[in-house]
Amino acid sequence: MKFCLGIESTAHTFGVGIVTFDGKILANAKRQFTTSEGGMIPSDVARHHEEIKEVVLKEALEKANVSWKDISLISYSAAPGLAPCLIVGKNFAAALAKEHDIALVGVNHSICHLTIGDLICGAKDPMYLYVSGPNTQVIGLSGGRYRVFGETLDVGLGNMLDKFAREIGLGFPGGPKVEKLAVGKYVELPYSVKGMDVSFAGMLTKALRLFRSGTPKEDVCFSLQETAFAMLAEVAERALAHTGKSELLLIGGVAANKRLCKMLDVMCKGRGAKFHAVPLEYSGDQGVMIAWQGVLQFKAGETVNPDGAQIRPYERVDDVPVFWK
Ligand code: AMP
Ligand code: MG
Repeated sequence: MKFCLGIESTAHTFGVGIVTFDGKILANAKRQFTTSEGGMIPSDVARHHEEIKEVVLKEALEKANVSWKDISLISYSAAPGLAPCLIVGKNFAAALAKEHDIALVGVNHSICHLTIGDLICGAKDPMYLYVSGPNTQVIGLSGGRYRVFGETLDVGLGNMLDKFAREIGLGFPGGPKVEKLAVGKYVELPYSVKGMDVSFAGMLTKALRLFRSGTPKEDVCFSLQETAFAMLAEVAERALAHTGKSELLLIGGVAANKRLCKMLDVMCKGRGAKFHAVPLEYSGDQGVMIAWQGVLQFKAGETVNPDGAQIRPYERVDDVPVFWK
């Protein structure tokens, strides 16, 4: 049996995951940088990762019950992310690869969110709806690359819900709070779909204005969800229709929302497509997805020299040719 160890360090999470070459998950150790005020200064996050990297590695190796001689591959998140954080992961991975004489590969973190979804949900060639704090994107494989079919023109949906919740005093993270309060009646909010793109800034402004002029928060929360999720269902459905794909895979932290899952499921059923939502443990940042993508690229013949290993902080999903599929 062959094993791959994956190291995630693009942003707030430092993670080490271990998987087998045939996709069995053995360990998912991680720590998140947090502050009481929120926000992230890249150099502070990098210091955090530097300080806890050995502990997280040890935890993963113990959980998986494997030793270095069992590991055939090390994979690290080379892109995209905060440069000081990426460097910590890259240097750690390269040093371990040299020390233990193990093959090394660098992967794109955004693509890992997609391919771990495929593995966990058993999806073949889905349209992906990626809805996290900062991201809202409709992505699908077409012409050998993961193409962004549509995305938010301003804030990500998660961040919009977080901002609304913070402004009305619900605390962070806002998504789950809004979901709990979404039991009122509908008040109209701007429904903003432009082609395949969506926009949430106007909805946020209007929602705050309604709340401040006395509309019950239950009504505003309900309306935020109904409007924003209907927009996502519309663009996701159009993407399915145009590409002829028959699966939709929801990823990102907002995938935890039951109402969003329900609406997407109803839309998919209506057109004979299959809906999958990635469970929370694997929809956020972690090392398992880095390890699995490493396996895919290694099996297709890729390795990098530890001395020449790179980071690419600004690489987008559609910059990467999908040579492993
Ligand atoms: P991520 O950026 O992928 O780590 O996801 C975090 C985002 O997901 C935050 O903006 C949360 O507010 C949001 N989120 C988490 N749970 C829910 C939920 N039940 N409903 C809506 N949004 C959620
Ligand atoms: Mg991520």
